[in-house]
Amino acid sequence: MKILVAVKQVAALEEDFEFRADGRDVDGDFLVMDLNEWDDYSLEEAVKIKEACGGAVEIVAVSVGPPTVDEALRKCLAKGADRAVRIWDEAMRGSDSIAVARILAAAARAEAPDLLFAGVQSSDQAVAATGIATAGFLGWPHAAVVSQFTYTPGAATAVLRRELEGGLLHELEIRTPAVLTIQLGINTPRYASLRSIKQAAAKPIELRTLADLSLNAAEVGEAGSSARVRRMYVPDKGRAELIEGSAAEQAKRLAAIIRESTGAA
Ligand code: AMP
Repeated sequence: MKILVAVKQVAALEEDFEFRADGRDVDGDFLVMDLNEWDDYSLEEAVKIKEACGGAVEIVAVSVGPPTVDEALRKCLAKGADRAVRIWDEAMRGSDSIAVARILAAAARAEAPDLLFAGVQSSDQAVAATGIATAGFLGWPHAAVVSQFTYTPGAATAVLRRELEGGLLHELEIRTPAVLTIQLGINTPRYASLRSIKQAAAKPIELRTLADLSLNAAEVGEAGSSARVRRMYVPDKGRAELIEGSAAEQAKRLAAIIRESTGAA
């Protein structure tokens, strides 16, 4: 039995930062990179399934990204993934979440897992679309925002609970292979021991290219994406004014503000 865990290396801002010259992203020198928090939980969920059945489960962490992503994949190896696969080709740069999902779906076809876990969302982009879009490309059953999961390796179905609005829960039985997006709090992710970190440093990270996954350049990167970042910026700070006085005085001040803002003053 095999579980594919899609993991993303996310960016967090340093206190002071500058934008890239093209204004479409933060300059990489001002970013701190780490494994997406949601993906830490989905990896742990896979490891728990493996431990509960005595080990007959292969966990494969997969990430779409340049060589810097290896650090996040090594963290997954240290925490219990059996293999790590990084998918990259310069043509993939600028992929939106749908293009990333197309790439992940191709990887899933090649690996043929029983389950594919993704995080509910990534902490830097918060698109919350990649996992379910991957299920769409694969035509597999899917469930989003999973907060409890029960699966016996080899079974044709799994039982899960997913969070709905207003504190409601959905309990579902789902056929495998399936794609699940895992919510924070489903478990308690473990810390990697020093020994496992050292062992992970010596493990290979398998590289897959466009050709390996039978994808072409027009399907990925900016060419294969319908969304493109035009600019990233810090919005101007708004103004707030507390209007005090009698009702008549407040109305007078409000009218003056409206006149000022419409240029009628
Ligand atoms: P998002 O749709 O960007 O909010 O991300 C949701 C989830 O999709 C993440 O938690 C990952 O499981 C997966 N994902 C997003 N981007 C990537 C990527 N570049 N490589 C692998 N998995 C990804």
